[in-house]
Amino acid sequence: RPALPRPEGTRIFVVANQKGGVGKTTSTVNVAAALGQLGQRVLVVDLDPQGNASTALGVEHRRGVASTYDALVDGVPLAEVASPSPEVDNLMVVPATIDLAGAEIELVSVVARESRLRKAIHGHPQVGAAAEAGEDRFDYVLIDCPPSLGLLTLNALVAGNEMMIPIQAEYYALEGLGQLLETVEMVKAHLNPGLDVSTILVTMYDARTRLAAGVAEEVREHFGDQVLKTTIPRSVRVSEAPSYGQTVMTYDPGSPGALSYLEAAREIAIKGAPS
Ligand code: ADP
Ligand code: MG
Repeated sequence: RPALPRPEGTRIFVVANQKGGVGKTTSTVNVAAALGQLGQRVLVVDLDPQGNASTALGVEHRRGVASTYDALVDGVPLAEVASPSPEVDNLMVVPATIDLAGAEIELVSVVARESRLRKAIHGHPQVGAAAEAGEDRFDYVLIDCPPSLGLLTLNALVAGNEMMIPIQAEYYALEGLGQLLETVEMVKAHLNPGLDVSTILVTMYDARTRLAAGVAEEVREHFGDQVLKTTIPRSVRVSEAPSYGQTVMTYDPGSPGALSYLEAAREIAIKGAPS
């Protein structure tokens, strides 16, 4: 199998959809773990106060642990709050503690409140173009957003250069996407012109139902090339993994869910950053 090309600069993905339960966290941790397994250097930033991404990556996120909150609210350098995932090689994690729930309010009165995360990520010495950061440069940063369009998600949209939108192959899949895309347009116009909705991932796809096929088709009609060819099947193994502090990539590497996430990660890497 040919080695995956490393991107020229760090690709910073915002994994967002204000709908809960569509597979944001699952896709963040599994794509991140798959990229790590494929030899890419990855940083996951947990931006959801629930800390589910931290749990799945086996990183402590009880109150008091150095976390995204410290970077966002107190300006602590991101490198000081990131720790390696015991799960996968090449993977660092900035965990989220429940304190982050308060940040949504606390940030309101802070200077440059929308660009705190951007400053934190872009100020990390391992983030940037290959030329300026060293061999240990991160190839991918994935930001797992909470299920809302508040100040936390806004910070992610300002920080990122690409967006990954997971869409659950279920009834009402496209509901709410209009509002999300309007927010993205607003951010592009005023705060981050470099943001690109590069990646749509259809999750929890049940190949036995016509409903799932119909939803996937509708998503492709709307978004065309932005939609990954790989879809993620609904699979119990995927949903069991977090309770073992694991991603499905290590919990059951041969399972259909793991193989699909590996394929999705490869597709993302081969497609490359939008020009
Ligand atoms: P979000 O972060 O968007 O709220 P999650 O990633 O937490 O969504 O997923 C919601 C629920 O669905 C979780 O319980 C998760 O384990 C489950 N889930 C996600 N993807 C799959 C899948 N492919 N197959 C089965 N269950 C899944
Ligand atoms: Mg989540």
